[in-house]
Amino acid sequence: MPITALEALHRLRDGNRRFASGVRSAEGVSSLSRRAELVTGQEPFAIVLGCSDSRVPAEIVFDQGLGDLFVIRVAGNVVAPSQIGSVEFAADRFGTRLVVVLGHSQCGAVTATLEELRRPNDAHSRSLRSIVGRIRPAVEGLLATDLAKDEGALLLEAVRANVRASANQLRHGSELIERLAERDGLLVVGALYSLESGAVDVFDGV
Ligand SMILES: [Zn+2]
Repeated sequence: MPITALEALHRLRDGNRRFASGVRSAEGVSSLSRRAELVTGQEPFAIVLGCSDSRVPAEIVFDQGLGDLFVIRVAGNVVAPSQIGSVEFAADRFGTRLVVVLGHSQCGAVTATLEELRRPNDAHSRSLRSIVGRIRPAVEGLLATDLAKDEGALLLEAVRANVRASANQLRHGSELIERLAERDGLLVVGALYSLESGAVDVFDGV
């Protein structure tokens, strides 16, 4: 049986501390025996829904290896039915009890959404619009606040709002996830990765 949500959170925090201070273990990544061991099954201890941004690979920023994390990546870490299905699959099949929504500073998808809200742009494809459309409800209210005067602060708060929105959609968008959370110790948390410091701050749901 995989570890509990809180144990999983500790393991991620320890791994991120190693990454941020430049002491990566890399043991799990390179071990041949670990690879052989995983041929017949997996027991990932955490599920991560993160952004596709090339600067935020979950396994690396949490210093984890093969078989450790079940990772779903999509621009802007948005929640569409296939993301919910992926989380359900891992939580149900592997018994994984921690789900982390991982946003990050300087997120291009969130920036594009703020730009779109200020200056609607017909050049975006329909598919790209579907991502912007999912981020939009979480961030548009911020443009009416004082934050709108400070570009940096606005973007950071928009990223956090988008993480919170995705975490809530996972918590309440699926009967299975809701049931596992109520009766079986599943925890959905929201976190922010700082490109500047390399540190992950878990700020929602703990
Ligand atoms: Zn991003």
